[in-house]
Amino acid sequence: MSDNSRHQERQQKLKEKVDARVEDAQQERGIVIVITGNGKGKSTSGFGTIARAVGHDQKCGVAQFIKGTWACGERDLLEQHDVDFHVMATGFTWDTQDKTADTVAAIAVWKEAKKMLADDRYDVVLLDEMTYMIAYDYLPLDEVIEAIQNRPAEQTVVITGRAAHRSLIEMADTVSEVRNVKHAFDSGIKARRGVDW
Ligand code: ATP
Ligand code: MG
Repeated sequence: MSDNSRHQERQQKLKEKVDARVEDAQQERGIVIVITGNGKGKSTSGFGTIARAVGHDQKCGVAQFIKGTWACGERDLLEQHDVDFHVMATGFTWDTQDKTADTVAAIAVWKEAKKMLADDRYDVVLLDEMTYMIAYDYLPLDEVIEAIQNRPAEQTVVITGRAAHRSLIEMADTVSEVRNVKHAFDSGIKARRGVDW
């Protein structure tokens, strides 16, 4: 058997397997996606999903649980496409000292997120950096899980952030962990507009 026909045979078998699995996946419903891990690409993946949905004229909403400058460019673009944004109002940073103020700010954004999770006009809701709010105990885990589980059947939710709580991972349909192989910051390169925010 020639190399080429061996290749062809292998590809044919692979195709049959893939076709069978595609055939088996018949459920139609919105899903929960968690993008976690220490590498770069979590929020960009979340916003990529929003851009994809907007491209299909779907209604989207974003709740961001870390303030401003970290992820900004997307907002200016997506608001022009009727994407609703709710961004935490305090100067939440890594060196945050004021747990009470941060909790109040987190709950205010969560209230808006909850409205979107209860509204079947929204096809996709992005909860950017929400994992930290649970890790720091700023938001009640049970309430978050309940709101996501009771969302409209067709709605998809994307959650991003490092150290996703086990319960979020269990609840999700799709979980990806972005592993840090290397990052420009480690060789002294500044975060760049249009690339990092
Ligand atoms: P991005 O928004 O670029 O997709 P992210 O959401 O995966 O990043 P975050 O933990 O939210 O990552 O961090 C946001 C900022 O920190 C971005 O400017 C990003 O480039 C930077 N960053 C992400 N991962 C790393 C890392 N491993 N080392 C240093 N900086 C990082
Ligand atoms: Mg992020």
